[in-house]
Amino acid sequence: MQKTRYLNFEGITISSNDYGEFDKIYNILSESEGVIPCILKRIKKNNNKNYDSIDIFQKMEFKASVRENFWTIYEAKNKHSWFDRPINLAKLSSSNIIAELCIKFNSINENNTYIYHLVNICLSLISKNNILFSLIYFQIKILISEGIFPEINNCLSCKTKLTPDDYYLIFEIGGLSCSKCLTDNTKIKLLESEIRLIKYISKIELSYNESAQKTIENVNINLYKKISQYIKYHTTQEIKSEKIFFTSLN
Ligand SMILES: [Zn+2]
Repeated sequence: MQKTRYLNFEGITISSNDYGEFDKIYNILSESEGVIPCILKRIKKNNNKNYDSIDIFQKMEFKASVRENFWTIYEAKNKHSWFDRPINLAKLSSSNIIAELCIKFNSINENNTYIYHLVNICLSLISKNNILFSLIYFQIKILISEGIFPEINNCLSCKTKLTPDDYYLIFEIGGLSCSKCLTDNTKIKLLESEIRLIKYISKIELSYNESAQKTIENVNINLYKKISQYIKYHTTQEIKSEKIFFTSLN
């Protein structure tokens, strides 16, 4: 039997579920381990001084005991909170989309540090109301880090440089095609403005305090939906929080 380890770590709460009468299970995103399901015992009892008030999308310092990959949190202190409570629906549902994608892509451990910093930046953007930009930024960066970002300069079939108004994203081959090389494969037409934004985001690396103001005017929900379809094709899973997010925009 494995020995119990005691660990201190910083993490972000990204989803929670009730467990029994007094306990909760949180998915906590950490820098070194990615998404960790942790149990917080007796969290719903009053007067538990080991826990600061804990809610979703908070950055906290945790103390945990770990035994055979079973993580129990026994102390949690708040470090940063991005949102006023209760969280505005558009901000909450867009943050939930990011949380869902983190859980779906939580397989390649070498990317954990990168994903952790990415989520910090995206929650900061959402808190400043740059919601759609944050989602598209996250989509593109996670595609790059998972190695499924499409080649976007040339037609994958004939290798010629793509021209404005002639971009088709082909899901099966993970790249773009010109109209002459189109086949019956699943495809989406991308607009020139969308391609420009995708290229721009793929090159920049934001820090926590940047707001990316200059790109906001190009951002629209259609580009988010197009990239989301591409991600769904590769993960073969629906993103449950999308429905609430789309509703919150109306
Ligand atoms: Zn072609």
